[in-house]
Amino acid sequence: MAYDPEAVEQKWQLRWQERRTNSLDLRSVARPFYNLMMFPYPSAEGLHVGNVFAFVGADIRGRFQRLQGQDVFEPIGFDAFGIHSENYALKVNTHPAELIPRNIARFRQQLRRVGLMVNWDHEVSTTDPAYYKWTQWIFVQLFKAGLAYRKAAPVNWCPECKTVLANEQVINGYCERHPETLVTQRVLEQWFFAITRYAPRLLDHLETLDWSDTTRTAQRNWIGRSEGAELAFETTDGGPITVFTTRPDTVFGATWVVLAPEHPLVERLTAPGSRAAVQAYIQQTREMDLVSRRVGSKEKTGVFTGAYARNPATGKPVPIWIADYVLMEYGTGAIMAVPGHDGRDYEFARKFDLPVVRVVEPVGDEDGALPYMSWEGRLVHSGRFDGTPCREAAPAITRWLEGEGRAKTQVQYRLHDWCISRQRYWGPPIPIIHCDACGTVPVPEADLPVALPPLENYRPDESGVSPLARLESWYRVPCPSCGGSARRETDVSDTFLDSAWYFLRYPSTECADVPFDAALTRRWLPVSSYIGGNEHAVLHLLYARFITMVLHDLGHVEFDEPFAQFRAHGTIVKDGAKMSKSRGNVVVPDEYVAQWGADTFRMYLMFLGPYQEGGDFRDEGISGIRRFLDRVWSLTGDAEDANASEAALRKLHQTIRKVGADVDGLRYNTALAAMMEYVNLIRRESTDGEKSGAAGQRGRDEERAIPVVLVEPLVILLAPFAPHFAEECWERLGHAESVFEARWPEHDPELARDQEIELVVQVNGKVRGRVAVPAGLAEAEAVARATAEESVRKFIVDKQIRKAIYVVDRLVNLVV
Ligand SMILES: [Zn+2]
Ligand SMILES: [Zn+2]
Repeated sequence: MAYDPEAVEQKWQLRWQERRTNSLDLRSVARPFYNLMMFPYPSAEGLHVGNVFAFVGADIRGRFQRLQGQDVFEPIGFDAFGIHSENYALKVNTHPAELIPRNIARFRQQLRRVGLMVNWDHEVSTTDPAYYKWTQWIFVQLFKAGLAYRKAAPVNWCPECKTVLANEQVINGYCERHPETLVTQRVLEQWFFAITRYAPRLLDHLETLDWSDTTRTAQRNWIGRSEGAELAFETTDGGPITVFTTRPDTVFGATWVVLAPEHPLVERLTAPGSRAAVQAYIQQTREMDLVSRRVGSKEKTGVFTGAYARNPATGKPVPIWIADYVLMEYGTGAIMAVPGHDGRDYEFARKFDLPVVRVVEPVGDEDGALPYMSWEGRLVHSGRFDGTPCREAAPAITRWLEGEGRAKTQVQYRLHDWCISRQRYWGPPIPIIHCDACGTVPVPEADLPVALPPLENYRPDESGVSPLARLESWYRVPCPSCGGSARRETDVSDTFLDSAWYFLRYPSTECADVPFDAALTRRWLPVSSYIGGNEHAVLHLLYARFITMVLHDLGHVEFDEPFAQFRAHGTIVKDGAKMSKSRGNVVVPDEYVAQWGADTFRMYLMFLGPYQEGGDFRDEGISGIRRFLDRVWSLTGDAEDANASEAALRKLHQTIRKVGADVDGLRYNTALAAMMEYVNLIRRESTDGEKSGAAGQRGRDEERAIPVVLVEPLVILLAPFAPHFAEECWERLGHAESVFEARWPEHDPELARDQEIELVVQVNGKVRGRVAVPAGLAEAEAVARATAEESVRKFIVDKQIRKAIYVVDRLVNLVV
C-alpha cells in the first residue's frame, strides 16, 4: 500500500478532533508549557506562506515539548480589529463586520489543514465583545493610574489611510501600508499611553530576557537611551534656552543654537526685523511630516531669529536660529550647534556661512579633518580643559557648569509616548465620556464593553474625525458622573492594544467575569516559548511588555515580563526574490498542500534553511522530501523483530542525539538532514544483511527485513515535522495510542559515541606509530593528530613535511 497523504491527513485530523488529542484540562495539568505563536491579521483571503512557515516552526517546537512529556498549550486566535483588516475591507468593498468573520473561517480551515496542534477550545478574536470588553478595561486601568492622557500633538497623517500613524509606521517619510504616499503632519487631540515612564525598566530587563539577539538589539535601539547633559544658554529677553547634548565636552565649540520652529521661546525671542522671515519658515515647516523632519536627509533649511544667547562655557554671544530638523518632541526642542564636531551642524555652517571652531584634536596620526566626531581626541580652544581627553572632559565640564547652575547630568530616551487613538471605525471604541462639567470620565467598568455600533458608511474622510462621530444617537450619552449631557469619545484604540494582552486571555477564554483568571494565569504564564516575526520587534513586543508591567504594578499579574523566551523566525523568498503580487511569485500554501500534502509541505518549508534565517522556496526541491517520506513509509511496512547491527544502532543513537539538540535549537533543517542520512544508512544495512541471512530469499527491494528497533524511534523523531504521517506509521507499527502519547527516545551516550579506529602513522613509508581516532575523520584533522603523536614527533622534528598521504580509517604517511 502506497503512502496517500490526503487520506492519511484527513483521517488524522478527524481523529484528533474526535479524540480531543490537542485539548487539555488547563487547571489540572502538571507540566504546563505555553507555546505561543503570533496570531494573524485575517486581513486577506487566506494565510500567506510566511504565516504557514512561522506557525509550522512554532508547532514543531510545541509538539517536540509534548513528546518530552510537557503539557503543551498551543492556542491561536485572530488579530481581527484594526487598520489592516479595515483597509482590506475598503479595498474589496465589503463591510468588515461581514468580511472579517468570513476571512477568519477561511484561516481556521487552513490552520487545521496544515496540521497544527492548536487547542481550538481557546481561540480568541479581538473583535469579539467578550474580548474587547477587557481591552477597554485595560484602557480604563491605565486611565485611572494616570498613564493615559489626552493632548493636542503634531501627529503623522497618512492621506491615504486617512488616519494618524505611529512613528513606527512611517518608513522614510512614507506610510508603511502605502509605500507611494508621503506622510504629512497634523495637529490633533490624541490619546497617549505614558510608555516613556517605563523606558528605563523596558531597557534594563532586556539584559535578562532569553530572546533572539536581533530582537533585543532592535528594542534597545528603539528605546534609545543616551547619556549626556542639559546645558542652559542664557538669553537677554527670554528665559534660558535648555539644550540636551551627548557631547558636553564640545560646548566650547558651540557657535549657535537652533530652536524647533514650535519652540515656545521663538515668539518672544525673534527680533522685530526677522519676524516676517521666521513666520514664513514656521508655515513651511507645518506642511511636512514628522519623520522626514527627523531624518533630515534633504537640503538644510533654517532662518536666523535676529537674537542671541550666551554660550555657558565661553560666555560669548551666539546667534539663535530656527530649523525644521529640530523637533519639539525630542529632548528639549533646542540644540547647541557644534559644527566642528557634528556632521549636520557642519553642513548647516557651510550653507549659512556660520563660524566653525575646532575644539577637539585627534591623538596620534589619525585624520582629524572636520567635522571630527571621534571620542578619542583631546580638547583644544577649551580654556582650562585644553589637553583633556574627551571622555574625561564630558563629565568634568558638566560638573563645572553644574556648579555654576548652567548644567545638569541628564539621560534621554528616543522612545515616545504611545499614541493610542485612531480616527477610524474598525476597533474598540475608547471607553471615555467627555462631559463639560466633569471633563474626561471613564466608562464605568460595569458598563463595558462599549460595543462598536453598526455603521454602514465607515469610510474615513479628510476631516480627521472618527467615522463614529457621524452617529449622534450613539455618542450622545448622559455623563456617568453628574448625569448631565455628555459625549462619547469617538476614536477607537490602536490595534496594538488588542494584541498587547491576548496571551493573557487564551487560558481564560471561558471566564466571562474577569479578563484573566488568577489561578490559570499563575499556572500558565509567563509564556514558555514565543515565536514570531522580527517585524514586530519594536511594536507589538514592546507594547506587550509595557502593558504587562503596568498590569503587574497595578496588582493584576504576578510577573512583569510576559515572554520568558522569544525567538524570531526568518523569512522565505521565492527563487531568490521577495514574494509579491506584482512579481507574481507568491506561494499560495493551499495549492502545495493540495498537491503534496501538509506533511511534505511542512517539512519542505523547514528544510529551506535555518528556521531563524529562512530560505529560498524552489518548486523542484519539494519532491525530494516526498521521496524521503515514501522511503520511511516502506520502512514501517517492512519493520520486523530482528536484531540491529552495532553500526546501525550507533547511527540511531547519534541521530537521536543530533535531532534532539537541533530541534531544541530550532535548527530544523539540519535535524531533517540527519534523519535523511539515517534512513539512507539503515536501508543500505538491510540490503547488505540480506545476502547471507534467510531474508536473502526475498526480492531485494520490496520486502527487506528492517529491525523495528531502528524504525520506531525514527517515527517519533519525525512526528513534530510530519504529524499525520507519523501517526499513521505509528499505527502501522501496531500502536493504538497517538504517537504524541509516546516519549521522545533517549540516546545512549555510550552507544552514540563515535567508533574509534587505529590509524597507522608512517614517516617516509616506515611505520612510526599508531593513533586512536574516530572513524571517518577528515584529512586535516587526521594529519594534525598524526603529527602530534609522541612516537612520531622525533622523526619529523626539525623537518619539513612535504606531503601527507591519507587513507581514511587506515593510515597517514608523512613525506619529509
Ligand atoms: Zn497609509
Ligand atoms: Zn459630568
